[in-house]
Amino acid sequence: MFRTLVVLLILLTIIMICCIGTVSKRVVRNREHVLHLIRTAVFTAVCYTGFILVPSKYYHLAVFMDGLYFLSTDWLVVYLMLFAASYTQISPPSKWPRRMIGFLAGIDSISFLVNTFTHHMFDLKTVMSASLGVEYWDVQLHPLHAVHRVFVYGIVLYSLLILTYRFIKSPVIYKNKYGSILFQTMAVVGLNIICSVMDTYFDYSVILYAFLAISICHLALYASPKKLFEKINSTIMEDSVVGLFAYDNAGLCVGVNEMAKNLFASGEDIYTVAEKYLADWKETYKDRAERVIDTDQVVVKGGTEMDVHVTYQKFFDEKGRDLGCCFQFEDRTEVAREFREEQYRATHDILTGLLNRNAFADEAQKILSDAQEPYCMICANIQDFKLINELFGTEAGDKLLIAQADMIRKAEGHDSVSARIYADKFCTLMPKCDYNEQQFLENMSITMDIGMNSPFKLHYYLGVYDIEDVTEPVWTMYDKATMAIDAIRGSYEEYVSYYKDEMLRHIIEEKEVLGGFDKAIEEKQFCMYLQPQFANNGKIVGAEALVRWIHPEKGMISPGVFIPVLEKSGLISRLDLYMWGNAAKTLEKWKEQGRGDLTISVNISTKDFHFLDVCEAFRMLAKQYDFDVKNLKLEITESVLMENIKEIKTTIDRLHALGYDIEIDDFGSGYSSLGMLKDINADILKLDMIFLQETKNVDRSKMIIKNIIAMSKELGMPVITEGVETKEQVDFLTQVDCDMFQGFYFAKPMPLESFEKEYG
Ligand code: C2E
Ligand code: CA
Ligand code: CA
Repeated sequence: MFRTLVVLLILLTIIMICCIGTVSKRVVRNREHVLHLIRTAVFTAVCYTGFILVPSKYYHLAVFMDGLYFLSTDWLVVYLMLFAASYTQISPPSKWPRRMIGFLAGIDSISFLVNTFTHHMFDLKTVMSASLGVEYWDVQLHPLHAVHRVFVYGIVLYSLLILTYRFIKSPVIYKNKYGSILFQTMAVVGLNIICSVMDTYFDYSVILYAFLAISICHLALYASPKKLFEKINSTIMEDSVVGLFAYDNAGLCVGVNEMAKNLFASGEDIYTVAEKYLADWKETYKDRAERVIDTDQVVVKGGTEMDVHVTYQKFFDEKGRDLGCCFQFEDRTEVAREFREEQYRATHDILTGLLNRNAFADEAQKILSDAQEPYCMICANIQDFKLINELFGTEAGDKLLIAQADMIRKAEGHDSVSARIYADKFCTLMPKCDYNEQQFLENMSITMDIGMNSPFKLHYYLGVYDIEDVTEPVWTMYDKATMAIDAIRGSYEEYVSYYKDEMLRHIIEEKEVLGGFDKAIEEKQFCMYLQPQFANNGKIVGAEALVRWIHPEKGMISPGVFIPVLEKSGLISRLDLYMWGNAAKTLEKWKEQGRGDLTISVNISTKDFHFLDVCEAFRMLAKQYDFDVKNLKLEITESVLMENIKEIKTTIDRLHALGYDIEIDDFGSGYSSLGMLKDINADILKLDMIFLQETKNVDRSKMIIKNIIAMSKELGMPVITEGVETKEQVDFLTQVDCDMFQGFYFAKPMPLESFEKEYG
């Protein structure tokens, strides 16, 4: 028996040494504390084994060894306490108690070492055991030994208390972590107390110390963390927001968590549902051999559709044998909804629900890339939309835009796409065969009449571009459709305009005119041409100044090309000032040369009245140049007079006051008003021959011309007819008493030098 116990102790010591070896190599939590504890336990076991094996004749050695054993128990409990504090994470806030305990353990240890000589703690006596037939050392404890006991049990008690506290307070899954160590420690302490009380010849608790050390090493470092991990894992699985179906290798469902139960709740048993699900899955994915398959599915739960991300995973052991599989179901309904909403916001116009600019370009590109039939692009634009916002408020404006978007949506056919590009600019791409202009216009007019409770009449424009080349960039197509609108913008009679290549050419020309204007003025590329004017007796009376742009690369550009562009931009006033100056300078020169009888007529554009103080300009000319103001005739087209008759009348009066004569240009070409003639105090009437050319009923026209001339005579206004091309015209005009002529029949506009050479 004695020998068995010794062998057992030696064996346990070897195991502990092995434990130290393995633990030292591992990086685990609490490793240092466990190592200290187990090393001290080895020391305790060695000291105790040494002590009981000391032969009876070596009394002092035995006392020394037993003293070592006792002092080792001091350090054993100290390290047990340090381990327990770290394991439970309960330690006193200050370091003083720990230092105090270390100090006391040191004193106690010294006391045991000194005891070898003083025997104040204990003494030994050899006793012969009759039952065992061996001699053993009987330990005689002295009263001072009780101090050691109190110290040791006090520390153990503290360790037990903190373990108990954690054991009671922690959730169920943590009970095992603290409980196993707590109960084992209690057992060791219990046995130690029993051995002490019964005064056995062998301290059995030493064996338990060793067991406890090994057990703590195993539990604290391996078993408990592993168990805890498993428990937490299964709790996570159970409470996870991800649904889970787990199967064994035969495809039988072995686990379903709460989320999965919720997701697949039906009248049927959930395990049956799970197994059916796996069977269906295997059927669908029978060609897929991957270990993990991901997919998005729609699961109907209680009548509502849910977007679920499904992950299927197969498990194998290290030898590749099938262990089973599982499904994870992640409810992505909310994420998918948010994603859809975000995508909607990114691609749609929130007000009207139509696509936005970028999405339109993408969609249109897609449609056109596999277009099998001709397509057209239609742009819609409300005239003066800004005004609607200002007059009726943005709410009414929004209402109108929504109504228009609805109309556009209605007009859409198959394979079409519509968008609100910006503000009130809408665009639709549709197959040409679906485009019904009449229908579009009708719908538009209904939309425009959305009841603003106002007589305000809305006008809108459609620009249509018949796509010729589907590879053209979408925005080029859009630009062409809007170019078509630009061609009719401002008109109240037209609603629809179709893109023509001239429009693009026109725009390019416009850009060239505007871009080259400054340089042209600077480099004097604009030239004054003169077209002679004759009296009906054949005598030269003067000329009309007509501008020519002598472009260094393009040659001569006629005013028909650039005048309208310059008028649109307001640049015309700069050109006219230049021309008027030229004319005045020429008149000055002629006066000096003794040809003060010749006149020059200059053109005043309608726009000049907006951008210039015309009177002031002519007042300054008269100051700057020495010429007879009567010789500079000012041509104003009748359209100017239509615009703002009152203001123009004052201007004309002021020009008259300066001494200038006013000619009414192009009379008969537009909306000539005979009534106007009596209001305007003009000096000369300039009749346009177009009047004669454009009518089929020549006789009626002749009659009108005759009467106009007669009437203007009565008003005291001489008449000059321009655009005279034939002898017949001259004869007729002479017959009806026209005073002067200008036209190709007599001469074409010519440079100043030519004019002077011929008529100077
Ligand atoms: P307009 O003032 O009516 O000038 C007469 C136009 O008729 C001139 O065209 C002239 O060349 C053309 N013409 C003259 N006789 C005949 C004829 O027998 N048959 C035909 N078919 N045409 C004839 P042009 O020079 O091309 O000028 C066109 C228009 O440009 C002018 O019409 C005038 O409105 C404007 N314009 C010309 N120069 C100036 C200018 O310096 N300033 C402004 N504001 N406008 C100008
Ligand atoms: Ca003219
Ligand atoms: Ca004219």
